[in-house]
Amino acid sequence: MHETGVVVIGGGVTGVGVARDLARRGVDVTLLERGELATGASGAMHGLLHSGARYAVKDAQSARSCITENRVLRDIAADCIEDTGGLFVSLPSDPDDYLDRLESACDEVGIETERLTGTEAREREPGLAPETEAALAVPDGGIDPMALVAATAADAESHGAAIHQQTPVADLLVEDGTVVGVETTDETIRADHVVNAAGAWADRVAALAGVDIEMRASRGAMSVTTGRHADTVVNRCRPKSSGDIVVPSGGHSILGTTDVTVEDPDEFPEEEWEVELLFEELTPVVPALAEAELSHTYWGVRPLYEPEATGDSVGFSRDYSVLDHADRDDVAGLTSAVGGKLTTYRAMAESVSDAVCDRLGVEINSDTAEAPLPDASAAMDKYGLAGLVTRTRA
Ligand SMILES: Cc1cc2nc3c(=O)[nH]c(=O)nc-3n(C[C@H](O)[C@H](O)[C@H](O)COP(=O)(O)OP(=O)(O)OC[C@H]3O[C@@H](n4cnc5c(N)ncnc54)[C@H](O)[C@@H]3O)c2cc1C
Repeated sequence: MHETGVVVIGGGVTGVGVARDLARRGVDVTLLERGELATGASGAMHGLLHSGARYAVKDAQSARSCITENRVLRDIAADCIEDTGGLFVSLPSDPDDYLDRLESACDEVGIETERLTGTEAREREPGLAPETEAALAVPDGGIDPMALVAATAADAESHGAAIHQQTPVADLLVEDGTVVGVETTDETIRADHVVNAAGAWADRVAALAGVDIEMRASRGAMSVTTGRHADTVVNRCRPKSSGDIVVPSGGHSILGTTDVTVEDPDEFPEEEWEVELLFEELTPVVPALAEAELSHTYWGVRPLYEPEATGDSVGFSRDYSVLDHADRDDVAGLTSAVGGKLTTYRAMAESVSDAVCDRLGVEINSDTAEAPLPDASAAMDKYGLAGLVTRTRA
């Protein structure tokens, strides 16, 4: 038996973010990850530091949190980021008015943009198609999620958190309607509060306390080329859809993505049509992809929170939710963090930690938006983590 202030379940970016935030406020935290850090969506995503432009037309709230956190991460996690910039590239086949709509939506949300002619866009990014009619430059970037997770975990540990990999939570301890700890395969850990940051598995963890979370798991494919075919993040200029973005990552380009509901985030089909679709949709905008050599394809599963299932995750808000199960389900001692994006992980972690600190009577505010993360490559060595492309190739 072991006792702690807060158990965090899940060592993806959300879990390590919460552990860091709480530890920096002086809370005793134990994080439990069933595999290695970032074995879930956090280590199988696209590597895009969102500017928010992808959401600006349909989901202003998500777009606003993205641009805010984009700026924060550039300050606190500079060594995890490549400042590539991003372009929304308009081809003759794209909807006529989309560039104008995107420009004004970005303007409303506060995302800085620059309108380019086709020639200017191709001067900036020579990999673009000759048919490029116009483009909108936005502050997208590349981010290595493995570096971010490692640096965040290292900061949590240096403030007293215990980070345990290869430690699955098998059950929640519930006494008189209150979650009072967890059972791992090896031991019982009692805690004042438990945070469920289990990503696409959060509904399974909550079910251990009899709580239902309406989640939909959605898989996305990303194909990695052996060469780097554009130095800028290249977005297709049309409503958000499958196969609409190429992200540079080291010496590679990562094409993405698809959006297919899966029943089981641990076991789902990885289908060839997804890879074909990515190349079909993206070759018109970056023609060199026609001859590109495929290194590998990997899949990640989005932890989408859909309280009223829409069946259309492309159109659903990607903003995050913090569920206090005492208020929501009459089960005290448990908070779940669901939805979100890697780009907004710090804000999500701050919201979770605010909710937990309220319950614990901790009155110290979060400082995670101002405190720089420690050196990312030392942190990756510490946890034995490889960068995104190497990890997903393994
Ligand atoms: C295809 C795809 C592309 C994406 N691209 C981007 C992008 O370019 N930019 C961006 O900002 N965001 C992107 N995202 C979103 C982003 O990756 C996720 O929102 C984020 O990584 C979720 O982090 P998480 O920690 O909540 O979940 P996860 O990273 O999935 O972490 C949950 C962890 O919980 C662990 N776990 C589960 N059950 C247990 C248990 N019982 N005991 C212990 N541990 C457990 C899992 O092993 C896992 O490591 C993308 C997502 C996908 C799927």
